[in-house]
Amino acid sequence: MSYDPQNIFARILRGEIPCTKVLETPHSLAFRDIAPQAPDHVLVIPKGPYATYDDFATGASEAEIVDFTRAIGQVCALLGVGPGVGGGGFRLISNAGRDGVQEVPHLHVHILAGRNLGRMLNPPR
Ligand code: AMP
Repeated sequence: MSYDPQNIFARILRGEIPCTKVLETPHSLAFRDIAPQAPDHVLVIPKGPYATYDDFATGASEAEIVDFTRAIGQVCALLGVGPGVGGGGFRLISNAGRDGVQEVPHLHVHILAGRNLGRMLNPPR
């Protein structure tokens, strides 16, 4: 998937659209999903122009990858959802492309928590 610099998350990164920021690091931004699917629903995105997780994993620098991975952990800590710290747990999701039913073509990891999230997959809609 080629990168579209007009996608909504690129516009959030440029400050053209507001977001409810949870965390910002040198290479990553985390903000609340506008249509939450759980009591906690945070999106973590890299600041670089990566459309999908596989683009990022193959094209990003080690500094970006470490920063992004740590940012996800920091958000989990801020939310207090890690089972190891007494939280109820969470789910990470990163949709990619057509079959992944990705709506916004800038890599994002959903962090969902705060309720029992049910089985992993639902039938296609
Ligand atoms: P996906 O299907 O994985 O591409 O999910 C895209 C997610 O972005 C959805 O959960 C949307 O609710 C969310 N979203 C779309 N626009 C915004 C926005 N302006 N601020 C926060 N979240 C958004």
